Amino acid sequence: MFHKILIANRGEIAVRIIRACKELGIRSVAVYSEADRDSMHARLADESVCIGPAAGAQSYLNIAAIMAAAELTDAQAIHPGYGFLAENAEFAEIVIESGLTWIGPSPESMRIMGDKVSAKQKMEVAGVPLVPGSDGAVSDIEEAKAIARKAGFPVIVKASAGGGGRGMKVVHSEAALPNAFSMCKNEAGAAFGDDTVFIEKFLEEPRHIEVQVLGDTHGNIVHLFERECSMQRNNQKVLEEAPSPFVDEETREKLCAAGVAAARAVNYVGAGTIEFLMNPDKSFYFIEMNTRIQVEHPVTEWITGVDLIEWQIRVAAGEELAFRQSDIKKKGHAIECRINAEHPFRFTPSPGTIELYHAPGGRSVRVDSFVYTGYRIPPHYDSMIGKIITHARDRQKCIRRMQRAIDELVILGVTTNQELHQRLLANPGFQKADFNIHFLERWLSQMHL
Ligand code: ADP
Repeated sequence: MFHKILIANRGEIAVRIIRACKELGIRSVAVYSEADRDSMHARLADESVCIGPAAGAQSYLNIAAIMAAAELTDAQAIHPGYGFLAENAEFAEIVIESGLTWIGPSPESMRIMGDKVSAKQKMEVAGVPLVPGSDGAVSDIEEAKAIARKAGFPVIVKASAGGGGRGMKVVHSEAALPNAFSMCKNEAGAAFGDDTVFIEKFLEEPRHIEVQVLGDTHGNIVHLFERECSMQRNNQKVLEEAPSPFVDEETREKLCAAGVAAARAVNYVGAGTIEFLMNPDKSFYFIEMNTRIQVEHPVTEWITGVDLIEWQIRVAAGEELAFRQSDIKKKGHAIECRINAEHPFRFTPSPGTIELYHAPGGRSVRVDSFVYTGYRIPPHYDSMIGKIITHARDRQKCIRRMQRAIDELVILGVTTNQELHQRLLANPGFQKADFNIHFLERWLSQMHL
């Protein structure tokens, strides 16, 4: 096992990883930007190194500075968390070539899955269902038209290198296709340095359901069931739950087997997530794989009892998974609410000083955060300041527990999305689990504020 790990990240995920290191008896090294001097991750780690100015490009994305910090502190391994460099295969390669351990999958798995066109081609060979559309990259408008006609409108034009909800355009008619196609291509070229695009049928009422997988270097790959992530705004998840209230046992078995097949196709090592869209008739299609830990991993941890960060570290150190698929059971229901420092309905960010912070507690409530009374939320990063996770015997009890946990939360000094969660949790459509990926935005657009 490692004696020291450097965490190339900030915020709640850095704190989460430091906690796992402490519990494993591993020393932790935090890196922080000048704007994060007072951040909890820099305080909790055994050692902390400043890696540059506030701007992400000069600090948390600065590979040279991070590698220098690893050398300076004699760290043996690097955990990238999520976001920033977590899905950067080149960074993983540099870490490995420097003689350190990358806590994540191989750069090769990351490269295949990081490119949506190559990922889909790999999945097709592995027999994982794909959204109908182009077989690969679409290079000209005539080809685009032919594919769209065959799939039927509406279609979605997607950038192969896209991510984080960017680089996608929904097209409702053939007349609108040429413009959307060239816009998507140009934007992809400018944003990702790769203008490869492809076309999929736009599914009108799907749910976003994803499968958590875990692989080791001994060829074992298991799934840890699914998560329901349909509550999204701007393709950003707001609330997640496990298991999905929509998935029955028969579908679950097929879905999770597809997740394992997808991971096996790229010899996956570590924790990863296969994202699917599921139609009302429960047919499902692969959309992408995230080759890292996800924000919403705690809901899976709670229903399975498996510590995903601990296992990311253990398999990176060469350990074999201590459980087989048949040993993994799910128990009860878990929900996660993302707490963002932003207006609950207009979504304008609200950085500033937290004048008072009181976290909820009590039975089966988990809070993963990095804020405290007096903490100044810097304006430079993501607005997510923490997550509240609850667990209970069934979904209804879990919702009630989350309602009382959200009500207990006190954050003064900055605006948060607490009220959005309060209203959403009380919404009859949410309570009946009668929703799809458009639910939240449709509901918000009908709200008279
Ligand atoms: P990203 O890598 O940017 O997250 P994804 O391919 O995972 O992109 O898609 C993000 C979201 O966009 C999905 O969760 C879903 O809400 C929507 N989406 C993507 N593909 C389709 C599709 N074919 N039909 C309908 N919605 C889609």
